[in-house]
Amino acid sequence: MAEICNVCHHHCHLSEGKAGACRARGLRDGKNVSLSYGVISSLALDPIEKKPLNRFHPGEYILSVGTYGCNLSCPFCQNHEIAQVSVPPSPSGYMTPDELSSLALRAHEDSGNLGIAFTYNEPLIGYEYVLETSRLNRLNGLYNVAVTNGSVSPEIFQLLLPCMDAMNIDLKSFSEEGYRLLGGDLSTVCANISSASRAGCHVELTTLVVPGISDDPEDMKKEAAWIASLDPGMPLHITRFFPRYRMDSGEPTPVDLLYLLADIAREHLKYVYVGNV
Ligand code: SF4
Repeated sequence: MAEICNVCHHHCHLSEGKAGACRARGLRDGKNVSLSYGVISSLALDPIEKKPLNRFHPGEYILSVGTYGCNLSCPFCQNHEIAQVSVPPSPSGYMTPDELSSLALRAHEDSGNLGIAFTYNEPLIGYEYVLETSRLNRLNGLYNVAVTNGSVSPEIFQLLLPCMDAMNIDLKSFSEEGYRLLGGDLSTVCANISSASRAGCHVELTTLVVPGISDDPEDMKKEAAWIASLDPGMPLHITRFFPRYRMDSGEPTPVDLLYLLADIAREHLKYVYVGNV
């Protein structure tokens, strides 16, 4: 028996023993479960600016954790070793929400760690783990941060929002066509950015400028105007693409183009940062 997963816009038909397009959810004993629950692929105490979040506790550090899988299929994925693969059959790291939150608390006591950033792969498709750990973090007085593609259903996003203190959300392109190339959906991402902003969560956005996908100055004009309609003080990171993964030939984004796009964005927005230059 197949079941439809409604965690994101793909609405995968899951059949028993198989995984969906994200490789991180599947049907087991008739239930739609997170296959990456607690399976840790990466763990590091990172500067908060590396998320990137420039206006949320600048100068401080946050314990950053990744699992496996992603529901987009960007051909330039910077973390494809963990995001574009299945959960390994014998993973090297497993942590319960309680173990992870306790580790973050110890790092807070030892070195002022802010809390936990769910990052590296797409965290929200494994929302159960994020939710349970975030609730424990709240009890432990720690902050919760999500670095996400913003491509889950509004219901899942709303479930997580009350636990989130800050998010960096990718706005990968401001065209439906650009998102289609990546297996995403622009309207879903925009709706989630909008609700995070309305909920008072600290939101910063990232647009990676990929030649041919997200480098159109006209799109940047529309994107910046749209962001300003939500909040002109919402920071936007315009970052440089380097050849990677399936787009491993060609040139990095020209630096002049990044500065041109940043100038366009600054006509509408107060905080625009150029990254990876
Ligand atoms: S979360 Fe994964 S399994 Fe569910 S619809 Fe999205 S891609 Fe498919």
